[in-house]
Amino acid sequence: MGQLWRWYKKKSFMLKITAGFVIGIAAGLILGPAADVLSPFGTLFLNLLKMIVVPLILLTLIVSVNNSKPKDLGRIGGKIFPYYLITTAIAVLLGIWIAKLIHPGAGLRIPSTDVEVPDAPATIDVLLHIVPENIFDSLANGDILSIVFLAIITGFAISFMRYAKDAKMNAMGELLLHISEAGSEVTFKILNGILQYAPIGVLGITASSIGNQGFQTLYSLGKYVTASYVGVAIQMCLFFPLMLFIFRVPVLRFFKNISEAVMTAFLTSSSLGTLPVTLKAAQKAKISDRVANFTLPIGATVNMNGSAIHFGVGVVFAADIVGYDLSIGMIISIILTGTLAAVGTAGVPGAGLIGMSIVFTQAGLPIEIVGLTAGVNVITDMVFTTCNVTGDLVGAGIVDKSERRHLEQVSSRVMEDSMAK
Ligand code: ASP
Repeated sequence: MGQLWRWYKKKSFMLKITAGFVIGIAAGLILGPAADVLSPFGTLFLNLLKMIVVPLILLTLIVSVNNSKPKDLGRIGGKIFPYYLITTAIAVLLGIWIAKLIHPGAGLRIPSTDVEVPDAPATIDVLLHIVPENIFDSLANGDILSIVFLAIITGFAISFMRYAKDAKMNAMGELLLHISEAGSEVTFKILNGILQYAPIGVLGITASSIGNQGFQTLYSLGKYVTASYVGVAIQMCLFFPLMLFIFRVPVLRFFKNISEAVMTAFLTSSSLGTLPVTLKAAQKAKISDRVANFTLPIGATVNMNGSAIHFGVGVVFAADIVGYDLSIGMIISIILTGTLAAVGTAGVPGAGLIGMSIVFTQAGLPIEIVGLTAGVNVITDMVFTTCNVTGDLVGAGIVDKSERRHLEQVSSRVMEDSMAK
């Protein structure tokens, strides 16, 4: 048994999940509706994902807020955070729009997902709900918006303690950070374990879906992958160049300089794993160390444009399956949740599935559908991660440009002042 486990563990994640998917398809075709007996394996996978969501978001965000000094959080943070949030929100909308054109889930029915989708709450209620009345309630209910809010303010509070003048405060702040870091490591370890199980979960979900729906499932998943790729292509080939152009960063040269990071992201499916190459690419693109060292590590943890497209496409896919027409109010609330879920998505392979379960839970959509897309996540994760890392670098490039302009203005003002004297 031990030997089998060691053999299994050594095989690449991509190979295992693809094998799970292919075996699932075969089992579904052979067994037909009787493949439902395999669905508990899928349910177990979904439960594991749900289990890890709350600690993962809470702890990674507390730690990532503490990756920078409060002083740096001011000037550069004031530019990069709005950039991250706005581009992520646009990416969710882009995902929704593309998927609405392609309708990947149309015609697919999954019996276990026949649910009543609740009406979307009014936007003002969604916003007000971000500040929880009771934090324990929010944690217990997996209320993502409130948990992100709680994590960020806790992260800031710990950061202020660490940099306070009082030595006792510093010590307590450091202790709290260490506890959060240790906790975050534990959740990453558990997540690794869950991803080891993912291929079996994918097998179960795919088998029961194919068993009930036959080739319609594959056809729909094919359309889902297409919508994801088209969304990422638009973000990469139109949106990012446009942003660079507006901020007068030479587009082609910039992309040439960052190409290694883009390739690494595609091959590793991990923004965090790519980070050393991303930092090197920033040097090549002549982004100052001051901006790169502050924005890129934060970007690798919180800025996920590709994952945001993932959530947009995924929501429409699920809405099509359950036969639900997304209202404007619902779309606004999905953009909000999707943006925050992208912030909470860790830069590791497969993490987007967790973010997607959060968005689905918030939107009242069945998370079984997240499990269904998990079978093709290896193919989509590659481009989502590429888009995530490119977004980090484009943000850094733009902020660097604006910082340079600011420094030039300051120095020319100093020159003028000294000449006037
Ligand atoms: N794999 C992605 C990344 O590392 C996160 C995701 O799964 O969406 O950037």
